[in-house]
Amino acid sequence: MARILIIEDNPANMKLASLLLLNAGHTVLCATDAESGLTLARADQPDLILMDIQLPGMDGLAATALLKKDAITAAIPIIALTAMAMKEDQEKTRAAGCDAYIAKPLRYQELYEVIDALLAKGKLQAGAEANPFHLPP
Ligand code: MN
Repeated sequence: MARILIIEDNPANMKLASLLLLNAGHTVLCATDAESGLTLARADQPDLILMDIQLPGMDGLAATALLKKDAITAAIPIIALTAMAMKEDQEKTRAAGCDAYIAKPLRYQELYEVIDALLAKGKLQAGAEANPFHLPP
């Protein structure tokens, strides 16, 4: 199970995301704006971040770009959460550095699948670094 930081300004969405993650056995950290989310990410090094895109002040795209530029947080997978359903908006989240994209309203199966896939990918990469003589072909 993982430590997951949720950055979300809407209280109902935060509550739902927290409940879904807790039910899956994860530990949850919460931030309601990008600035405090960046501080928490640097200080607590979560295993994964759920990033709302529409936030007061700095938006989730700008926050993601900062996290991916910072060596301390660059490797943390980020899932963009957004109500924007347009293809080009999905493209914007990718360009900002998000590792995955989930459209709201949240559906628990999709959320769990995306989280498990990203965490498994991270473990594979960590394993490859730890065992330099067992690199994949
Ligand atoms: Mn929002």
